[in-house]
Amino acid sequence: MSRHIPQTIFNIALDVPLNRTFDYLSGSFTARVGNRVVVPFAGRHLVGVVVGLSETSEYPIEKLKSVSHVFDDAAIGNVVFDSRMFKLLKFCADYYHYPLGQALISALPLRLRQIKPAVSRKQFSYQLLANADLTQIPARKALMQRIIAALQAKSSLTEAELALISSGWRKAILELKNLGLVSAQEVVAVKASLPTSSIEPQLNDEQNQAIESVLALTHQFKPWLLYGITGSGKTEVYIQILQKILSDKNAQVLVLVPEINLTPQLEARFRSRLSQYPLVTLHSNLNESERLQNWLAASTGAAKIVIGTRLGVFTPMPHLKLIVMDEEHDSSYKQQDGMRYHARDVAMVRAKQQNIPIVLGSATPSLETWFNATSGHNTQKQQYGLLSLTQRAVENAALPNIFCIDTAKSPTENGLSPLLVNAMRECLSRREQSLLFINRRGYAPVLHCNACQWVAPCMRCSARMVVHLSQKRLKCHHCGHEQKIPIQCPSCGNADLHPTGQATQRLEQTLRSLFPAARIARVDRDSMRNKDALNDLLSKVHDQEIDILVGTQMLAKGHDFPHLTLVGVVDTDSALYSPDFRASERLFAQLMQVSGRAGRAEKAGEVLIQTAFPQHALFQALRSQDYVSFANELLQERSVMQFPPTSYFALLRAEANDFSQVQQFLSQAGNLARTLLTNQLKHEVMIYDPVRPQMERLKGLERGQLLLQANSRAALQRLLKVWVPQLHELPIAAKIRWSLDIDPLEF
Ligand SMILES: [Zn+2]
Ligand SMILES: [Zn+2]
Repeated sequence: MSRHIPQTIFNIALDVPLNRTFDYLSGSFTARVGNRVVVPFAGRHLVGVVVGLSETSEYPIEKLKSVSHVFDDAAIGNVVFDSRMFKLLKFCADYYHYPLGQALISALPLRLRQIKPAVSRKQFSYQLLANADLTQIPARKALMQRIIAALQAKSSLTEAELALISSGWRKAILELKNLGLVSAQEVVAVKASLPTSSIEPQLNDEQNQAIESVLALTHQFKPWLLYGITGSGKTEVYIQILQKILSDKNAQVLVLVPEINLTPQLEARFRSRLSQYPLVTLHSNLNESERLQNWLAASTGAAKIVIGTRLGVFTPMPHLKLIVMDEEHDSSYKQQDGMRYHARDVAMVRAKQQNIPIVLGSATPSLETWFNATSGHNTQKQQYGLLSLTQRAVENAALPNIFCIDTAKSPTENGLSPLLVNAMRECLSRREQSLLFINRRGYAPVLHCNACQWVAPCMRCSARMVVHLSQKRLKCHHCGHEQKIPIQCPSCGNADLHPTGQATQRLEQTLRSLFPAARIARVDRDSMRNKDALNDLLSKVHDQEIDILVGTQMLAKGHDFPHLTLVGVVDTDSALYSPDFRASERLFAQLMQVSGRAGRAEKAGEVLIQTAFPQHALFQALRSQDYVSFANELLQERSVMQFPPTSYFALLRAEANDFSQVQQFLSQAGNLARTLLTNQLKHEVMIYDPVRPQMERLKGLERGQLLLQANSRAALQRLLKVWVPQLHELPIAAKIRWSLDIDPLEF
């Protein structure tokens, strides 16, 4: 008996953990798809996004509430998502089986998730007017004179550049405007960049060929793998492709990088070489206001280049013409909570939807990408183009020589073998720099009792506490729990407790006693909490104020150290025989990357790896710097084992205080999945039994997981589509914490 109500019904996505949208009456408001609105929901007010308009609802019209507000977000043309972004996020919500509302809302900058209109902070640049009569400026107005001189040298100055001249620039520029000498023009906020170098390096044939190949197919979807050894000049290839694409007036380019603070040189080179194009960055080190402004600049089309970390893949860019993903193999592209997307896969879908090229760059491509670039013919996907850079770009820059030190023959003392110590001593005497790399992920100092073999455990996780000597504390790197270092063994009372294992802090101590005169710096997440610390250190290294660097993978990424000629790799063996099937792929990538730090300029480099397994295939491939045969061999193994990329995984994780609830949930989930297998799916999908992960307990919760394996994405998705909604209905599901990870990287 529903009366006709002449109102539109808004279909609204909300940030709530339910896999549906919500219908509201328009009331006195008008809106279109992509508008932000405020609605009453369960006694609160929430920000939502309109995803559809209709005349009817499957719910009784009388029961629908009205929207309370529709935002006037003029700064972004009123819509936070255009239809293409909406389509992309809808795809992700479906593929990752994550509530659409949460997928949409969490892709917005925090400020747009709040009940406030989007305000764009306008920025101006200033130019000297052609007919300006400069004699009007009183001689005593020194600042105005300096600004005029700067404007005469450079045709226009941004606010950031003016701020470099003096903090009092605003008042001076206002006076100059009032005198009719200067005009203002609105621009996109651009950070002040260093004086630009417009020198284009000479390219080699491979670089030229890579650039030409990409530029030959710019108006269609085309994935490229730019496989280039370290130092082969991948960044230069990106820059020249961008220069060409951006010469089209409207074009925008998205550049994805793993962690922005670890690639400052990439950003600096883009800023200096492409200085005519407004560039914004999007990453977690921005404050919320900066993030909003940069996001707005991208979504209005004002910013031509967007450099972002994984979340950047969801930045609306109306004129997107190319996506570049640097270091595509890096695992930080995978989101580890909430919607567990992989930015590389999302970028690929986005490029396909928008019919544009995408360039994935790496010296050690992920096996997934390598598989697609070399054996893509057996998938229905667009064949990847493979672009190889096999030579170092700087002339005469030789590849480093890589050797293994057999620790069985040359035993280590305090973690260092005499051969490595000697090489470091010689390096010091030549006044060159050395780098000791430690793979802390696999190896950290634990507190150990020699009398009873007790090892300090975390009370809340099945993990060992890590010794932090400088703070005299034990810390759990999984849950953050910390405590004082005990004076005696809690198990047997022995007072002689020692840290065993090498990590950066302990290695630093050893080096200080071996080389008391050397200037030593440690680089890890503890010593480099803010980005200035890392930048300060990098400039010290460049100015040769550091002799020895000790560090974790933070050091391995993208930094050029021209005076560094020796790299020592201290402990990697734990990763060689890890139960994680991706461990050797990661280790190879890491060691190739860190080896690439040695001998960048005219000086040849040497890499010494300490290991008890010098004959291991991984080291053989590393010594001959042969990624290709190593990758092909791993692919062969994966294919035999039926592991990704030759199969597809989904992992259901569960945790609770009580393990029996975890087990109950996972076995019900597994049984449910088995009942849903059609005759066809039975041949395509494998459902394993629930197991405990390596880390059985985390943050006080007992954990378990259930693995599904399929021979195609389509088969896996067919099962998930019916299975996941039924999982939500299991009574036990409400009593525990659980999540689904499609294409998981960690097990
Ligand atoms: Zn003991
Ligand atoms: Zn813990």
